[in-house]
Amino acid sequence: MKHFTTYMEPAREVTALHRITCDLCGQAIRDEGAEPSYYCEEVVIRAKFGNVYPEGGTLEQLEVDCCLDCFQLRLGPWLAVNGAPLRKSVVDV
Ligand SMILES: [Zn+2]
Repeated sequence: MKHFTTYMEPAREVTALHRITCDLCGQAIRDEGAEPSYYCEEVVIRAKFGNVYPEGGTLEQLEVDCCLDCFQLRLGPWLAVNGAPLRKSVVDV
C-alpha cells in the first residue's frame, strides 16, 4: 500500500510518495525518508494487459505491494502447493 503525505508549499500543494507498506501484513517496505543502505530488497507483483499498436496504446495494470517476508512465507508456499514453486537465481547488478 502506498501512503502519501500532503503538505503545503508556497503557492502550491504537493502530494508525494511518503512510504510503501505491504498490503498483506502492513509492514513497511520502503520509507522515502530512511537512511541510505546498500541492502536491496524488491518484490514486484504486477500484471499489465491491453492493446499496444506500433503508434502506442493503453494498458491496464493490476498490482499489489508485498514485502519479502510475505512473498517468501505466504505466497511462496501457496504457489508451490498450486504447482508453481518459486525459482531461485542470482543476479549481478
Ligand atoms: Zn508483508
